[in-house]
Amino acid sequence: MNQRPPPGIVAMPREVLHLLLDLPGEADMETLRAAGDAGGVALLEAFARWSSDGHADDLADLPVEDFRRRAAEFFQWCGWGDTSLSTRSDSVIEVGIGGCWETARKHSDQTGCHLTTGLLHGFFAALAGYELGVMELECAGLGSGGPCRFVIGTPEMVDSIYAGLNSGESYDEIVAGS
Ligand SMILES: [Zn+2]
Repeated sequence: MNQRPPPGIVAMPREVLHLLLDLPGEADMETLRAAGDAGGVALLEAFARWSSDGHADDLADLPVEDFRRRAAEFFQWCGWGDTSLSTRSDSVIEVGIGGCWETARKHSDQTGCHLTTGLLHGFFAALAGYELGVMELECAGLGSGGPCRFVIGTPEMVDSIYAGLNSGESYDEIVAGS
C-alpha cells in the first residue's frame, strides 16, 4: 500500500479548487455540492492510480469487501478523517467519517458537509456509471456526537429515506423495509 503523504491535488481535486476560488464567503449548499461533485471523476481517477500502486488488479475486478476497505483507506489517506464504508440491503452504501475535515472549516455555515456530499456523489456516480443520490444522515458539525454519516443509493432510495426521516421513521426502519 502506498504510504506517501497525499499531494494536495489528490486531497482536493483541481476541479474543486477552481470552483472554490470563485465562491463567495457564504456559499450555499447547492454551490458547495456542485463544487464537490465536479471533483468526483478526478477523485476516482486518483483512487485508481493510488490503488494500483500497490496492487495491479483493476478496480472493477475487486471483490466488494476489498473495494470497501481500500476506498475507506484512500479517503482517509486524502485527509478526510477516520473513514469507514459499509453496505446494506444491496442498495445502500454507508460512509462514516470520524473527525470529518469539513466540520473544521473555519467559515462554514454549519449546515452540514456539503462539499463532502458532492465529492461522494461525483465519485460513486462515476464509479457506478449511473445517477445516484447522496445524503448526509448525521453531521458532527451539527452536534450529532458521532462521525458524519452519509448514505449513497439510487435517487429513489435516497428520496424515500429523506421522506421517511421527515415523517419520523428511523433510518434503520426505512432501510430494513426497502
Ligand atoms: Zn458532517
